[in-house]
Parts: sequence; structure tokens; C-alpha cells
Amino acid sequence: MRTLTLLGATGSIGASTLDVVARHPDRFRVAALAANTDWQRLAMLCGKHRPRFAAMQDGVAARALAQALAAEGIATRVLAGSAGLAEIAALPEVDTVLAAIVGAAGLPSTLAAVRAGKRILLANKEALVIGGSLFMRAVHDGGATLLPIDSEHNAIFQCLPAAYDRHPGRSGIRRLLLTASGGPFRTRALAELPHVSPDEACAHPNWRMGRKISVDSATMMNKGLEVIEAHWLFGVPASAIEVVIHPQSVIHSLVEYVDGSVLAELGHPDMRTPIAQALALPERVESGVPSLDLPKLAGLSFEAPDHDRFPALALAYEALAEGGTAPACLNAANEVAVAAFLDGAIRFTDIAAACAATLARVPTRAADSFDDALAADGEARRIASQWLKLPQESAKIAT
Ligand code: NAD
Ligand code: MG
Repeated sequence: MRTLTLLGATGSIGASTLDVVARHPDRFRVAALAANTDWQRLAMLCGKHRPRFAAMQDGVAARALAQALAAEGIATRVLAGSAGLAEIAALPEVDTVLAAIVGAAGLPSTLAAVRAGKRILLANKEALVIGGSLFMRAVHDGGATLLPIDSEHNAIFQCLPAAYDRHPGRSGIRRLLLTASGGPFRTRALAELPHVSPDEACAHPNWRMGRKISVDSATMMNKGLEVIEAHWLFGVPASAIEVVIHPQSVIHSLVEYVDGSVLAELGHPDMRTPIAQALALPERVESGVPSLDLPKLAGLSFEAPDHDRFPALALAYEALAEGGTAPACLNAANEVAVAAFLDGAIRFTDIAAACAATLARVPTRAADSFDDALAADGEARRIASQWLKLPQESAKIAT
């Protein structure tokens, strides 16, 4: 029996996870659920999964949740704020923590799970982008196990040799190939991009996801963050990580070996597959995802990314090459810009422009501690807000 804390329970990954978990009550038990403000949804989930703990980042929402649960006679104990989230990420009775909070806000609780030596199923790529080598060192020092559930990284993980962790140098990898759908604007006239709406940007052709990652997919910043994520997860240099556009999202990523073999993982674009793979490892369980009907697929196509259309991708490679605090800075600028775009305050094309301007203005420093990375995060939020002429409260550090 695996016992789980789910950070980000009310989101898209949270829903996919709880769907898989509910199919296997004999294997998985939910010990704790966490979310930001949506106490009504969390109350409903507590009624269904009966966790011992629930935590809400927002204190007012936490009180509302506690009252709602008491009124229903549900015995879940409610915690609040960052301390509450960190506590449920490190519960002694919990072996597995699903890190699915969106953005830098997920770093502290994910890190609490890392330091408590948990088995961590990582969806919150931003935490790894900000922390980089510090995060990977904390995983090692905490005796934690990090399993990727981002679909591309889960695909690569499945295509790597079993002994990869112990002998990465002997594995004969030539390249990691990250696939990208190209999002909703892959074929849109470039002149129209400044005028696209948040709803259009969130209408992803293949995946149903939260709004922030949907916008990241439309700019391809998501793929840029994933290049950085792949670098840290698999210890592969940026020069050996390539992005290929594959509009059908059937091949989730590939690993090429020096002998010319290319291994790929295929499936429906449904996050329940990577979540079930990582939850049950080394076994396999039903995820609710149907078989892939190969004869019915109209075809699989591939193209190189268009850097004029997707300038965010090159920015991520630049930040990774620069190292130190640069990836944290890029991530923070992107979070500010995406939130402003979703609020209708800026244009779609301002997102990558704000990221480029922020990277150019914030000096890169060594990231010797998480405090260094978070200081860069804060500075980048201020600079990006200024550059976008947003009110300064947009620069508030999300963590
Ligand atoms: P979402 O917006 O649907 O859900 C976000 C969750 O985070 C919600 O439960 C929300 O309550 C919680 N949250 C937000 N801010 C918080 C805060 N300050 N404190 C505590 N909790 C907070 O997002 P999502 O699509 O589920 O994505 C979650 C993460 O998973 C992101 O990092 C995303 O990049 C990654 N991811 C998502 C998908 C996908 O298919 N949705 C795929 C790969 C990776
Ligand atoms: Mg992905």
C-alpha cells in the first residue's frame, strides 16, 4: 500500500492523479490533500478520499474548509499556509508526494518532501528550474527518489536503461529528443499573435491542462522549461537535448543511442499514463487510458521549431547556458508575464519580450543556496513588472 500526499489536489494534475488512485483502493491511500484557495473543491475531495490532513495555502480558505468539513462530520484535520503545506509534505506515514502545485509557489513544499526523503512524483517543473543543481543535491542528501511525471520526461525515463542512475556515463546516449505539439498557434499568421486572447492561448489542441502551463505551451516556454528540467533530471548537457515539433502528441519523447537506436514512448495524450507509471513503479496498473489504435492514426508528423514564432525556446537554452540564477530569473519573469496576459493586461507577444528584457537586465549570480535563487526570483519579478508597466504588487514573490 502506497500512502500519498497530493500537493495541488484541485488542479488538472490533481484530478488525473485522484482518478488513477480511485481505481486502485487496494494499492493507494490518500493521506493528505493541499490546494491554494478553492476550499469548496477541496471539501468535496476530502469527502470522497477521506484524507487525515488537508492544507490550504490561503488562511481564509483554510478556515472555510475546516467549517465545511466539521458541518459534514468529516474528520480531516485542516492546516494552513506554507507551514501547513510543508508539514503534510513530510508526514512520517506518507511515502509518496505528488508535487503538482503550479509555479515557484510549489518550491517550498516540494523541497520539504525532498528533505524528508520521500518518493516524489514531480509535475511542478518550475521548482526544478529554479533550484537546478541545488534541488538535485537536496534530493541526493535527503535520500529522496525523484520520478518525473511531466509526460516528456516520463517518456524519456521509460526509454532509459534500468541502470541509468548508477552508470549514466556508460549508457551510450547520443541525444534526448523532447517532443512538443507546437500548441494552438503553430500555424497562426505571425501578424495575428499580438492579438490572440487568453482563451485562445489556453485552447490546447491535444492536452487539457491548467491555464498557466497552457499559455506556456502556446509560447513554447513550457518546452524551454522542460529542456532545463531534462538537463537536471537526466544529467545530459543542453547540447544533447533537442526539441522536435510533433503536432499529434502521440510520441511523448525519444532517446537516441550512439548505435543509432531511437526509443520512444507512445500513447494517448492523457496524464493518467505517466502518473500511473510512476505511482505503481516497478509494477504497472490500469490508468483508465484506452489502447492506442495505430491504424486509425492519420499519421505522425515532425518539424523543426520555428524560432521566430517561438522566441521563448531559445531564451531557455540561453538561461541554461548562463547557469547560476539565470533559469530562476527566466521562470520568474515568465510567471509574472503569463499572469498579466491571463489578466488581459498585456499582449501574448509581450510574454517572451518581457522574459528577454528581464534576463538582459538582471545580473546572473552564482546560485549557491536556495536564498540566492529566490533573491533572483524576486528581482526578476520586480524588473519584469516594471518593464511591462504593471502595478508593483504583481512583483510579489509567489513563494
Ligand atoms: P492547475 O492550475 O490546474 O492546478 C494548480 C494547482 O496548484 C491547484 O491545485 C492550485 O490550488 C495549486 N496552487 C496554485 N497556487 C498555489 C499556491 N500559491 N500555494 C499552494 N497551492 C497552489 O495546474 P496543472 O495544470 O495541474 O499544473 C500543475 C503543475 O504540473 C505545473 O507545474 C505544470 O507545469 C505541471 N504539469 C502539468 C501538466 C498537465 O497536463 N496539466 C503536464 C505536465 C506538467
Ligand atoms: Mg510536458
